[in-house]
Formats: sequence, C-alpha cells, structure tokens
Amino acid sequence: MKSARLPDGRDLPVLGLGTWKMGEDRARAADEVRVVQRALELGISLIDTAEIYASGGSERVVGEAIQGRRDQVFLVTKVAPSNASRRGTIRACEGSLKRLGTEVIDLYLLHWIGGTPVAETIEAFETLKAAGKIRAWGVSNFDTDDMEAIPADAQCAANQVLYNPQSRGIEFNLLPYCQAHGIPVMAYTPLGQSGRVLKHAAILEIAARRGATPAQVALAWSIRQPGVVTIPKTATLARVEENLGAVNLTLTEADLADIDRAFPPPRAKRSLEMI
Ligand code: NAP
Repeated sequence: MKSARLPDGRDLPVLGLGTWKMGEDRARAADEVRVVQRALELGISLIDTAEIYASGGSERVVGEAIQGRRDQVFLVTKVAPSNASRRGTIRACEGSLKRLGTEVIDLYLLHWIGGTPVAETIEAFETLKAAGKIRAWGVSNFDTDDMEAIPADAQCAANQVLYNPQSRGIEFNLLPYCQAHGIPVMAYTPLGQSGRVLKHAAILEIAARRGATPAQVALAWSIRQPGVVTIPKTATLARVEENLGAVNLTLTEADLADIDRAFPPPRAKRSLEMI
C-alpha cells in the first residue's frame, strides 16, 4: 500500500481503519473485534482510536483484536484535552496502553486543543517518547495558526482533521502548510459518516462509470494528494475490503472536475471544521 512519510522516516499507510463508535455495546464487541482483525488480515495496519471513544471501549476492542498481532499494527490513539496536562497526559497514556494491551503506541495525538497550553502537552509527549511508551506524537483538529504555534524544533508527526468532499476547507492553507513541513494529514470522517457525500449524484455517477462504489470514490479522492492518509470507519465486515479497494482507484481529471463542480474547493480561508 502507498504511504505518507512521517518526519521520523517511518511510513504511514494511506488507508487505515477508524473505530469511533466501536465498543459502545457489549453485544456488538465480538463482531467489532472481527472487523479490526479482518482489516489486519487484508493488510490494513493503521488503526485509529481514542481514549474518549466509548469511554475506553473502542481501545478495548482494538486491544482485543491486536493481541498476538501487535507487530502488524500501526496504532494511533489520542489523549482528551481534559487530560492533556503534564501529569494527566502521562496517566491517560498509561490507561490507553492498558486498554490496548500493548507497551507502546505508534502515534499519540492531542485530540483537540483544550484549556492546557499545547507546550505543556508536548512536554508530556516528549517524556512519554523518551520512556518508550509512544514512538511519535501529533495533533488533531489543529488549524493553520495552531500548527504555526508549535515550536519549529518540536517533532509533530501528524495532524488529524476533518476532510471529505463536503468539508474541504483545509485545502486553502492548512493542507499546503502540512505538506510544506512534511507533516502527514490524517483525513477523518472521509465518508462524511455515510451521509450526503455518498448519496450525491456526482459521486454516484463517477462510481458507476468507474465500476467503483461511492465510498471508494470518496476515499480515493481523500488520498489523491501526497501526504494525506484516510481512516474510514466501518463495523461491517464486507465494507473493510470494499474500502480498501479505494487504494487501487485513481480518479481521472474528469472525475476530479466533476467533484469540484459538486463540491467547490475553498476560495478563501475558512475556520477548520470539527466533528
Ligand atoms: P466515516 O468514516 O466518514 O463514516 C463512517 C460511517 O460510514 C459509518 O456509519 C459506517 O457504517 C459507514 N460506512 C463505512 N464504510 C462504508 C461503505 N463502504 N459504504 C457506505 N457506508 C460506509 O466517519 P467517522 O467514523 O466520523 O470517521 C472515521 C474515523 O476518523 C473515526 O472512526 C475516528 O477513528 C476518526 N475521527 C477522528 C476525529 C477527531 O477529532 N480526531 C473525529 C471524527 C472521527 P458501518 O460502520 O455500519 O459500516
């Protein structure tokens, strides 16, 4: 699978699996574990979770799924802003490691900016890195000015933000900023949570003429530029393979122009949208 290069030289695969809303219901947990395992079997190694998803339930699902397969996984989780103080971050990381059943997190993100100064969270991230508990750290929901405020010598490895045809404001200056600084962008909610994007006539038409599904079109669009990776969530077994198919779909100029007409690119700075 193609990848984006992290500042530390490791590769971040262009397509992963999101796990928001997993772990909410015990009755569904075994199926969700199976979905994560299916992703790993198919070679989808990038798994995204967060301590706040289902109050740790998503991390538990992921932890169960990766037991005995840790070496096949690029594991991403996030500290909640309410825990992002110096000591709180260390404690939150310990909790995530426990729920994930692992000794190290590949990429640990600040979920969004809260009341704690970002510099304090970064100090905690560096402590965790030195202790071998995380391999790299990054941020999420950071707009361009937030990125500019990160000290130049800090090793921010990624920025995870909302990105799909309907929400493409990052193209104005956040995405170019990240690309120029070698910081991969992780596109979250790339399917627009299965709402308007996947039902839009333009997406449906492109899917029909390319012999693809609407989800594959949306995902291929999200990773058409270098330095962008995508993390669609599915808890449906068959959709894991379907979504993976997006990595083999290259959209044509005509496809991209149709998407631009349906979902015009930003002509001015818009504040970063968040979910
Ligand atoms: P999404 O991936 O855009 O959409 C997920 C929805 O699409 C689910 O309802 C899923 O249903 C459905 N779906 C999946 N594959 C499909 C397909 N092939 N055809 C039709 N529908 C399909 O939304 P998301 O969960 O908000 O975002 C993805 C991940 O990004 C999250 O899970 C999370 O890991 C991360 N995220 C991060 C932040 C942040 O603040 N950093 C915010 C939001 C999300 P089924 O599950 O029923 O298949």
